[in-house]
Amino acid sequence: MALTGLEIYKLLPKTNCKKCGRATCLAFAMQLAQKKADLKECPDVSEEAKSKLGEASAPPIKLVTIGNGDKQVKIGEENVLFRHDEKFYNPTGIAVTIGDDLDDSAFKERLGKINNFKFTRVGTDIEIDLIALQDKSGDASKFSEKAKEVCNNTHLSIILESKSVDTMKAALESCADKRPLIHGANSENWEPMAQLAKEKGCPLSVSAPSLEEIADLTEKIKGVGVENLVLHQSSSNIKEVLQGLTKIRRAALRKAFRPLGFPVLTNMANGDPGREIASASAFIAKYAGIVVVNACEPWQIMPLLTVRQNIYTDPQKPVQVQPKLYEVGQPNEDSPVLFTTNFSLTYYTVEGEVEASRVSSYILAVETGGTSVLTAYSGDKLNEDVVAKAMASAQIEQKVKHKKLIIPGLVAVLSAKIQEKTNWEVLVGPKEASGLPTYLKTTWR
Ligand code: SF4
Repeated sequence: MALTGLEIYKLLPKTNCKKCGRATCLAFAMQLAQKKADLKECPDVSEEAKSKLGEASAPPIKLVTIGNGDKQVKIGEENVLFRHDEKFYNPTGIAVTIGDDLDDSAFKERLGKINNFKFTRVGTDIEIDLIALQDKSGDASKFSEKAKEVCNNTHLSIILESKSVDTMKAALESCADKRPLIHGANSENWEPMAQLAKEKGCPLSVSAPSLEEIADLTEKIKGVGVENLVLHQSSSNIKEVLQGLTKIRRAALRKAFRPLGFPVLTNMANGDPGREIASASAFIAKYAGIVVVNACEPWQIMPLLTVRQNIYTDPQKPVQVQPKLYEVGQPNEDSPVLFTTNFSLTYYTVEGEVEASRVSSYILAVETGGTSVLTAYSGDKLNEDVVAKAMASAQIEQKVKHKKLIIPGLVAVLSAKIQEKTNWEVLVGPKEASGLPTYLKTTWR
């Protein structure tokens, strides 16, 4: 069980030396109890206290790493149930399946497709993380051959899925150095699977029909020295999976129940591609460490990546672009000049629509602390002074020979003030960015 702040305090040096950056040992102890501090920050803690506090100061959900190198996937180590309480730290790994029963050309084609899922959204590259090789053939040599092919031809981290210990052993001969997730152990095979995971230094997934049985298995597996565990939740019923995910997260965070203090892998392939993506999106929000999907089309993967990107941003820090003048296309001295705020979502929405218009333009992203147009206006972060200052620092007068500024329709109310302050003619643009292509092609001209 987790120790309270006072219990932790009793084990600290109690010198209030401030070397940990806190004013007192008690303050440090309280933060340690809330998992907001690391025991290593106190250089004077005794060995005895370290061993007693080690368990108490460990994260409630273990950090598990799959793979190695640049594309290794880190999951777990979350501290909160609700994103707005702090933030979620380690984004859900998104995995796409590939079966070992595919013929050679279909296998190669699917592998290539999975490798290439990469999109750019709000200025950030988003991509999938894992490829999940499934033992569908029941043939150890085939699974092993395909595991080798995947290892040699992907930059992604790998999940090897088979219940057969012999099959898993054969596959690991060629790709253990990639540190794949061994998926997985159950009540029948857990002992040899755990030995395999220990010998190869790979993480291991654990599945059982109930949470009680999963908890029982994780304790047994930890007993043989394997700590990097991933719990498996699967059902054809979305409600059951969500309930399982929520119970596991609550048990780990609220009760500090170590046997369930691990990230969770879910998969819910039921043949309906739309439903599969909708379910996986729900699992990303609550609280999957990995979602495995069969979906293999960009229209299916893109929504998942978008959901994950939104869930794993810090809700207290709006995603921002650098406030500056951006060029879309090849603008010249006759090109339109628009402004918007430096909130990423707003900026990239505007940029996308301007690009779609095929009218080369300048877009001035005004510093509003990463807030949207109306939010910035209502908080007085967007006014005529802010706009004039941004125009001056971008030296926009030297880039175009006209003096016309297109402002967002939502702040039409600012037009007279901006005009007076800048001596530029203000043109009120559309209220929605989606109106920009038509506006630039017709009204601007
Ligand atoms: Fe106390 Fe250790 Fe922090 Fe010093 S560094 S104030 S001894 S907790």
